[in-house]
Amino acid sequence: MIPITKPMLDEREADAARRVILSGWITQGPEVAAFEREFADAVGARYACAVSNCTTALHLALLAAGVGPGDEVVTVSHSFIATASCIRYCGAIPVFVDVCEDTFNMNPAQVEAAISPMTKAILCVHQMGMPCDLSSLAAIAARYSLPLIEDAACAIGSEIIWKGNWERIGKPHGDIACFSFHPRKIITTGDGGMITTKHKHWDDQVRTWRQHAMSVPDTVRHRSSRVVFESYPDLGFNYRMTDIQAAVGREQLTRVSEIVATRRRLAMRYQAALRDVPGLILPVEPEWARSNWQSFCIRLADDCDQRELMQSLLDRGIASRRGVMCAHRELAYRDKEPWRSFEPLSASERSQDRGVILPLYPQMTDNEQDSVISAIAQVLARDCVA
Ligand SMILES: *Cc1c(COP(=O)(O)O)cnc(C)c1O
Repeated sequence: MIPITKPMLDEREADAARRVILSGWITQGPEVAAFEREFADAVGARYACAVSNCTTALHLALLAAGVGPGDEVVTVSHSFIATASCIRYCGAIPVFVDVCEDTFNMNPAQVEAAISPMTKAILCVHQMGMPCDLSSLAAIAARYSLPLIEDAACAIGSEIIWKGNWERIGKPHGDIACFSFHPRKIITTGDGGMITTKHKHWDDQVRTWRQHAMSVPDTVRHRSSRVVFESYPDLGFNYRMTDIQAAVGREQLTRVSEIVATRRRLAMRYQAALRDVPGLILPVEPEWARSNWQSFCIRLADDCDQRELMQSLLDRGIASRRGVMCAHRELAYRDKEPWRSFEPLSASERSQDRGVILPLYPQMTDNEQDSVISAIAQVLARDCVA
C-alpha cells in the first residue's frame, strides 16, 4: 500500500519525548521556550509563540488583530474548514473570495473588491504549502490599513522572493502567521501550532491568552522564593503546547531542509513524468515561489471522473485524496451561520471536484513513485481519452 503521506519520525523524537517525561516537567516549560526560539530562527521571525494546534493559533491571531463580533474577514472557502471556522469563533463573518485554479491560492484581484467598511482583516492561506501572492495582498492590506494574517498551516520551509531575496514563509510578511504540526503537515508534534508575528505587543497578547490570561505564569511561580498570587485580568484559553510535544518539535525542526529538498525532488519528478499524460493539468509554481509541496494536487480534465480515478488507484494499493474542500458547501456553513461570498466560488468548487492529491512523502522511493505514475497513465488512458 502506498499511503498519501508518512511522518518522518525515529529514535531521535522518541528519545526527546522520553527525556522530557523523565525530567518531571511535562507541560509548557523550557522545551516550549527553546522550540519557540529555534522556530523563530528557522523562519526568520522576531517572535514565535507555540500553541496547541494551528486552529487555536488562528483564533488567537484573529483576536490579536482585533477581530470581533460583526466584523468581516476576507478569506477563501477553498481551504481546510479551520480557516473559516476561526473567524466564526470570534463572532465575525467570513467573506469568501475565489482562488486561482493554477495555484489553488487566493485571487488578489477579488480581495480588494470584497473589502467593505465592515472588513477588519484579510486571512490568506498558503494552500498545500504553495506561497500565495503575498506582495499583492500586502499592498492591498496596506492601502486599506488592514492586518494581513497568514494561514501557513502547511507552509513550513516554503519560500518566497521578497524585495529581491528568497525568504521563508513565516517572517511573517503579513502581520502574523500560523503554522500546524499535525502529522499531515511537513513536520509534526502529534498536534501543535506556532504563531509568528512582527509585533511585540501581539506576541505578548497571544502568550497571555494561551495560558488562561494568567498574570504570572506557573513557571515563574515555581521558581520564586516568595509566595506569588496570580490574577486573571482578561478572558483567556488553554491553548498550550506541552514540553513533550516541543521536544519532539525541536528534533523535527532540524529535519525541515532535508524534508523539503526531498519533497521538491519528488514533485519535480511528478512534473516531468506526468507532463505529457493526456487528461491532466499539473500544479503551477510561480517563479517567485518555492513550495514545500506539502501536497501535490493534479487537476483532471472535464471528461475524467475524479472518484473513478481515485477508486482505480485504491484498487491498485495507492491512496489519494480529492482536492481541498470548500467550507461554504458544508452543512456547518450552508444555509446556516452568516457568511457571504464576493462572486460565485466557481474556481474553488472546480478545484475541489477536479483535484486529486497524489502520494508524496520524504521516504517515498522512486519505485513507489513510478508505480503511482504508471497507474495514473493507465487509468486515464482507459477511462478518459476517447
Ligand atoms: C491543517 C490546516 C489547519 C488546521 O491545523 P491544525 O493544526 O490541525 O489545527 C488550518 N488551515 C489549513 C490551511 C490547514 O491545512
